[in-house]
Amino acid sequence: LPARYGAGEKSVWVEYIQLAADYKPAVNLGQGFPDYHAPEHVTKALSEIPVGDNPLLNQYTRGFGHPRLVQNLAKIYSPLIGRELDPFNEILVTSGAYEALFSAILGHVDEGDEVIVIEPFFDCYDFMIRSAGGTPKFIALKPKSTGGQLRSADWILNEQELSSLFNSRTKMLILNTPHNPLGKVFTAQELETIANLCKKHNVLCLSDEVYEWMVYESNKHIRIATLPGMWERTITIGSAGKTFSVTGWKTGWAYGPANLMKNLQVVHQNCVYTCCTPVQEAVARSFEFELARINTPESYFVSLAKELISKRDYLVKVLRENGFNPTVPDGGYFIVADWSNLAKKIDLTSETDKYKDYRFTKKFAKEAGVLTIPPSAFYSEEHKHLGENFARFCFIKKDENLSLTEKLLKEWN
Ligand code: PMP
Ligand code: GLN
Repeated sequence: LPARYGAGEKSVWVEYIQLAADYKPAVNLGQGFPDYHAPEHVTKALSEIPVGDNPLLNQYTRGFGHPRLVQNLAKIYSPLIGRELDPFNEILVTSGAYEALFSAILGHVDEGDEVIVIEPFFDCYDFMIRSAGGTPKFIALKPKSTGGQLRSADWILNEQELSSLFNSRTKMLILNTPHNPLGKVFTAQELETIANLCKKHNVLCLSDEVYEWMVYESNKHIRIATLPGMWERTITIGSAGKTFSVTGWKTGWAYGPANLMKNLQVVHQNCVYTCCTPVQEAVARSFEFELARINTPESYFVSLAKELISKRDYLVKVLRENGFNPTVPDGGYFIVADWSNLAKKIDLTSETDKYKDYRFTKKFAKEAGVLTIPPSAFYSEEHKHLGENFARFCFIKKDENLSLTEKLLKEWN
């Protein structure tokens, strides 16, 4: 294995999806995907695509994005970013948000470049930066001590520490808001701090916004591309899997100024070339359906967050009643919960993993029947200890599975 790929260990996803298959835990709150139906119009759109009648829908479509899809993406995002997006030069459709990240990083990061990554971070960023020949520079969000219950907004970036990471080698900063796994929704002030540093040091911002529609209460999702002077240095990423609750469709996109998108196109045209035509057609039709009811209470982009907030509140309550200390997320669909008060209840000596949260989540899955994800996977080697007292719970699950979780936790406790 080339040295830049590290030891080639299994990613947390490969390992924990195997664990789910081997142990068949009663509830799987691990990997982030809904265990219930996507909106009916979305699955219907795919089933109604006339692949039998229209032979071209079974063939390659435009490489940088199916025309009907990029046109609808431009209609959705133009009002949100306050500028007319050019569907054919400023948007790229990718094989999930994963490939958007890959094309953006491989397209812009060169040997010796540094990329600033905020911890905890979606684990593939690290691998992608290194495979491009770059060096990730990590900075961890730290919980303010509140003396009690935490919200995701209590996890903060130290401005001085952040500013000390910028230098002449810095090419890019990766932002993820709403954040996986903490659920933090970066505030206008926090984004301004990041934007000012990017502008001062001429650094690109790669903004992973796949959870853009899952924002709760008074929090507001702000697209960093809309801050003054940021459009020209920002590439923003979205995902149909997250937007329409169809993670298996693996369709994502990136948008930004044409000169920056050019580099993504170069990677995409040679590594992927084009994405699945009928799925792109179905995502395009799903956006058309939503555009017709945008900003109404029926809009899925409004109703999804409403539906999720009661699931979040329920799981937070269940976790608190059973000895966990959860951070209440303001966005996304994960809860990171501190399990250190339960350490005395669980004997981890039978597990051999290096990090405590891996030992805890494995033992907990076997004893309680609830599968979760170890957050140290979302930290660099030197900072993994910061994730070790936590477990990540996904709450976009059927109510009956959330109440089963309550029952299982009570029995275990
Ligand atoms: N970024 C983040 C923060 C994620 O949580 C995920 C997982 N959905 C992705 C990117 C990848 O998304 P996709 O499934 O569309 O490839
Ligand atoms: N984004 C999802 C999560 O965080 C899925 C990640 C994956 O399967 N690679 O759970």
